[in-house]
This record gives sequence, C-alpha cells and structure tokens, in this order.
Amino acid sequence: MSGSLIRLSPNDIPEPKTASIPGNAIRWRSQYEIAGYKAPVSVFVTSKAFVRFCAHAGSDLKNEVGGWLVGKWRADEESGQQFLIVDAVLPALYTRHGSAYLTFTQDSQVAMHTMMEEKYPESDLVGWYHTHPRMGVFLSSYDTWLHGNFFPHPWQVALVIEPVSATAGFFIPDQDGVLDNRRYYGFNEIYNGRKSSVVHWTNLHSDEKRELQSNNGDVKLLEDDNDD
Ligand SMILES: [Zn+2]
Repeated sequence: MSGSLIRLSPNDIPEPKTASIPGNAIRWRSQYEIAGYKAPVSVFVTSKAFVRFCAHAGSDLKNEVGGWLVGKWRADEESGQQFLIVDAVLPALYTRHGSAYLTFTQDSQVAMHTMMEEKYPESDLVGWYHTHPRMGVFLSSYDTWLHGNFFPHPWQVALVIEPVSATAGFFIPDQDGVLDNRRYYGFNEIYNGRKSSVVHWTNLHSDEKRELQSNNGDVKLLEDDNDD
C-alpha cells in the first residue's frame, strides 16, 4: 500500500456540529426535485454569496471560471437533517482553463488553503463551483473525477453555472456517495434582512418567491452588501 489513502472505520467518520436549520429561506427547486429526487444534504446560500459567485460566473462568457464554496456543514439539532450554509466564495485565481475545461492548479490550491486559514478559520470547505458557458448544467466525466479527488466528503457539493442562459444547479452525492452527473438540485436562499430574492436562475422554481413578490410588490435585484 502506498500509505496515501487512509480508510476510515465508521466510528472515525466525523459528525457535523449541531445547529438550527435556517428558517428565513426561500426554497428553489430543480425539475428533478419536483419529480421527487431528494438530497441527503440541504444546501443554503446567503444572498451575498449568491451574488458573488454569479458575478464571477458572468465575468467570462467564453471560458470556464470557478472557485470554492466556503461555509458550514451542520446537522439540525431537532431533526438531524444535515445542511450546508454557503456564506463565502473564493474565486480561484490561478486556474488553467479553456472554453470547456477548468482545473485547480497547485498554486491555486495553496492560495485557497491559506485564505481558509487566515480569513475563515472556523469554516468548512463545503464545495466548489464552475461555469459551463453555452454548455448546459451537468458534470463532465472530468468534473466528476475532479470532485471525487478534491472533495471526498459526502457532504461536499459541486455547483455548475451556465451564465449565458442563467441556469445552474447543485450536484450532491446520494446516501451511498454516488454523484449523479445530470440530475441536479436547487437550494435554499437565505434572505437575511432583504425584502426580495436575488435569484435569477430560470431553471429553478419557487412557490415562496411568488408570495414574497405579492407581499412586496415587485422583485428587484439588490446590490451586494458591503460588510466585509
Ligand atoms: Zn465542467
């Protein structure tokens, strides 16, 4: 054995800390969830993080761009339901990319770990995101390989954004750790202090948004907060 792989016995598998699942969120569902597909981990995204990865995704409509999703992995103290809160985004600065591929270079990995230690010491690396300009929302076989190698925990997710058509989805491993490369999930938008949704993805659906819309008159895209 090379010694580079450590097998964990079930007793060694880390458990998430407990917390209350956020109540102030709008549920955005994909077509697959509407058909009954259910993820073992629920994803919550703050409006600020949403605006940030969308801005990065829209900054290059020719080449793939990507980065890391930072936040918290928790279990609800009452129901035990596991959930992630994505509250920060680290765009990858030193990627090698082309029109249809992206990889995290060694330098970019080092920069990410340094940022995590310095800026987000209490946070978890909850996943990654990358764009598929004009290609659709799916994971290529390379993406699946990359996910398995760099994001080995069953609660780590892959977000794919197609910035031209404004469509996107979260890929989340199932109970057995298997990642479906076509069926994606929506997420829960945490709208702390906001009166309206910032989500503009056309392939996700929300009933709650309609209520929010009728309560507030109109829904407008809000500017990013400036609190850090
Ligand atoms: Zn890809």
